[in-house]
Amino acid sequence: MSESNLKSMSDLVSLSKRRGFIFQSSEVYGGLQSCWDYGPLGVELKNNLKERWWKAMTFRDDVVGVDASIFMHPTVWKASGHVDGFNDPMIDCKNCKERYREDKIDPSQPCQKCGAKDSFTEARDFNLMFNTQMGPVEDDKSKVYLRPETAQGIFVNFLNVQTTMRKKLPFGIAQIGKAFRNEISPGNFIFRTREFEQMEMQYFLKPGTQKEAMEQWKEIRWNWHLENGLRPDKLRWHPHEGNELAHYADAATDIEYEFPHGFDEMEGIHSRTDFDLKQHQEFSGKKLEYLDTQDNNKKYIPYVVETSVGCDRCLLALMSDAYRLEFEGDKEKERTVLKFDPKLAPIKVAVLPLMKKLEEPAKKLFAEVQKHYRAEYDLAGSIGKRYRRQDEIGTPFCLTVDFDTLEDQAVTVRDRDSMSQERISLDNVVNYLNDKLKF
Ligand code: ATP
Repeated sequence: MSESNLKSMSDLVSLSKRRGFIFQSSEVYGGLQSCWDYGPLGVELKNNLKERWWKAMTFRDDVVGVDASIFMHPTVWKASGHVDGFNDPMIDCKNCKERYREDKIDPSQPCQKCGAKDSFTEARDFNLMFNTQMGPVEDDKSKVYLRPETAQGIFVNFLNVQTTMRKKLPFGIAQIGKAFRNEISPGNFIFRTREFEQMEMQYFLKPGTQKEAMEQWKEIRWNWHLENGLRPDKLRWHPHEGNELAHYADAATDIEYEFPHGFDEMEGIHSRTDFDLKQHQEFSGKKLEYLDTQDNNKKYIPYVVETSVGCDRCLLALMSDAYRLEFEGDKEKERTVLKFDPKLAPIKVAVLPLMKKLEEPAKKLFAEVQKHYRAEYDLAGSIGKRYRRQDEIGTPFCLTVDFDTLEDQAVTVRDRDSMSQERISLDNVVNYLNDKLKF
């Protein structure tokens, strides 16, 4: 059996649509550029991913969670620097009017869309924040922003969380939530969109200890991606150096994944110093200091190391990584498989009665299995076609109910990856699955 990996993003886009993972937003109206809707399988996969992140990040002594509002006081974004500085350099092709982010292309090359040479305008700063108005009166005071990152909801709640949860440094606050950026050139499917979800954690610590915290979180985050099943040779570090380093950071590095369009950022790990808390203290006039009872009651503004991963980008990496085309020369035997780690697979097990006549025992089995695992029941089409469908959505196990089941009270379990089959008794199905899906 030979196999190949995902070759182009369009194969994944079409599988995602065909199998109910991801649809174009507002498709019946012709779609809305760079906006995507997660279908029934996409939402399961995304929920599994978020749950794994939440468990890894908050089922520990030193991290707690929040869920902050998307709208925030507009001064938050003044203080954070987003109003004045959250810009990307934008250039236009004078010939075809296509718009590009200057730092993502080589402006000395011809326009990628129309091929015109020397046709670019000078770069202009473009602010990426979306804004809208709050309340019925439209004036300057009613202007609010859709948050471009979840982090600020954590910074402004630092003292609320620290005091109510009686936390001592170092401790972290984690959050999963939507963020919005009016990206100049969104694209590559769900890699860069204007509405996306972030999973962020800000770790507050004593100034001077940021280096070791950075190392600790780098290791934790790298291993988390490996535990999700991403192949190590598809991951690499991209440390920020020189101009790349944001003005408020004293160190930063990205975890990059090799997407079909090449290696690109999936997660950022940043040592943000005390920049954000200091800014909020200054702009709000409220003290955001920590009282260090373990160090002579000194008061200081903590430093922060953050880990920030895009949920959608991470999901794209998982789907790209799991995608395999298997063939043995014979077109009939070709199959596409999403080899998800079983803990992330949207559907864990499928119950497939061979014939309609076998529905009764099959439905009984399905009801039992469904008490424990996200399961699917499928009666339509040949058994081979049904296996192919489950392969394409990454279901680790199929349970086939056949005529022998009526005699021997047993079913065939088919393994997604090896396609091997074994017979197990109906009584033992849940135990078998518990054993195989232990995580
Ligand atoms: P980029 O350089 O790709 O624009 P960034 O460095 O601005 O990204 P951060 O501000 O560090 O990104 O955001 C943290 C994470 O949020 C990124 O690593 C990415 O996974 C995710 N993210 C950022 N922008 C987008 C977007 N437009 N669409 C999807 N995910 C995004």
